[in-house]
Amino acid sequence: HSLASQGLNPYRPLSQPINFGSHMKDHINALCGLVSPQSFSLDKDRIAPKLKEWRDRIKGETPLLLLPSSTQEVSLILSYCYEHNIPMTPQGGNTGLVGGQIPQGEILISTDRLKAVRDASSLDDVLVVEAGVTLAQAQDEATKIDRFFPLSLAAEGTATIGGVLSTNAGGTAVLRYGVARDLVLGLEAILPDGRIFNGLKRLRKDNTGYDLKQLFIGAEGTLGIITAATLKLFPKLEGRSAAIVAIETPAKALSLLARAKKASGGQVEAFEIMGRFGLELVLKHIPGTKEPFNKPYQWQALIEIASATQDDSDRGLERLLETAFEQDLICDATLAQNESQRLAFWKLREEHSSAEKAEGAGFKHDISVPLSRMADFIDIGIKALESALPGIRPVIFGHIGDGNLHYNVIIPEGMRSEDFLTQRDRIGTIIHDLAHEMDGSLSAEHGLGRLKSAEALKYKDETSLALMRALRSSFDPKRLLNPNVFF
Ligand code: FAD
Repeated sequence: HSLASQGLNPYRPLSQPINFGSHMKDHINALCGLVSPQSFSLDKDRIAPKLKEWRDRIKGETPLLLLPSSTQEVSLILSYCYEHNIPMTPQGGNTGLVGGQIPQGEILISTDRLKAVRDASSLDDVLVVEAGVTLAQAQDEATKIDRFFPLSLAAEGTATIGGVLSTNAGGTAVLRYGVARDLVLGLEAILPDGRIFNGLKRLRKDNTGYDLKQLFIGAEGTLGIITAATLKLFPKLEGRSAAIVAIETPAKALSLLARAKKASGGQVEAFEIMGRFGLELVLKHIPGTKEPFNKPYQWQALIEIASATQDDSDRGLERLLETAFEQDLICDATLAQNESQRLAFWKLREEHSSAEKAEGAGFKHDISVPLSRMADFIDIGIKALESALPGIRPVIFGHIGDGNLHYNVIIPEGMRSEDFLTQRDRIGTIIHDLAHEMDGSLSAEHGLGRLKSAEALKYKDETSLALMRALRSSFDPKRLLNPNVFF
């Protein structure tokens, strides 16, 4: 707060296209000459999809798309750009939700061709993959050696390992396995000046100073370009059971969660909540979905348990639900009878974003608060929104087990989109201030990117800001890598 009150705005958004000076053509020629002919493109049609993001909210521009296919090519590109003061933005699968991957005139460096699987070892329980491998491919590679890579999210067919590590993605199994940074044993990255950081170890114990690989995770491409990672694998569990339960209140959902964690001995993999209105949007807009119960309930939770055998997980889930009924924590429950029913349950949860998009203008918020404050947050937030903008329609769903909700809102019926869009900052401030008051965060898993960096300044304390800036300037004193992101 005090930085802003002193009239200082250390956030440097690049609102103007970057001016490379009169040498732009020479630099483009030089960069193209450094790499193989497949490793660059000036083709507008090829570049265009990489300049807009999933929701079409942010559009970008770039003079050149580089598509390096090896660590060495990435290093050559970065060292040339560093020497000649050329800003760069890295991009993976372009599924990020805060726009950090969209260049605003910088050179665009895509990891599309960094696709090698360097090793898969069941003895070490690791997978070593390059940054452009998709999350779904990494999961498949783990399965091939009878292991499990637990990071999973709705965009996994397109999101890349480089991207999920750079945003420290969460996803659906955080409750049991942690976020992306908990799943990495080693990392290879190229520093902004082209030097190679070779931290691609596979050790579970290595206390030899600062854990440097962790600095690149969640850095959103500001400290270096990740080129490869050693991922931690887990035993493949054969039993997986899921249920949707109907619940009266979020407070009861949280009591059920606490009970589920204890009763299952830590085997709960996912605990997701869906409010009535969001579920109705899915049923309305997404073909092939159906109401899980024979009457509508205000809240539903999707619970998934995984164990060594199917019998174990089925019985564990059934026992949990029986006790939950007895203790009046749930009103109704449907257990998935087979794999296709389990996937149908997940579809109800994962199609929320697409259903919101189909309903009309909306604002997305990705907040976290301590579990002990979650029920109050939901309640107080709904009332505050309703009094700020009568008729606003909250779509509340997400990873409640991790203290993380997608606390989104949709335009009131009958309101014009252009009027609604002017309310974005006011509505965002209500939700983010409330999360901050409750010791929470305005970005639980999507990061800050271009969309939230300026706003995050309001909530970061001076010491954290100073440390972040010192760290960045020691890696990238010229601020050339992803200059639109952070402070
Ligand atoms: P991009 O979008 O290309 O890039 C994201 C950021 O990382 C940018 O700042 C970019 O500059 C940087 N970056 C990319 N690659 C590199 C690299 N190799 N080195 C350095 N920096 C790099 N997120 C969750 O956490 N949980 C969810 O449940 C979840 N669900 C989602 C569902 C949908 C339908 C969608 C569209 C997104 C969802 N996300 C979720 C967002 C999530 O952040 C992204 O899907 C993913 O983490 C980004 O991967 P990407 O390869 O697409 O990266």
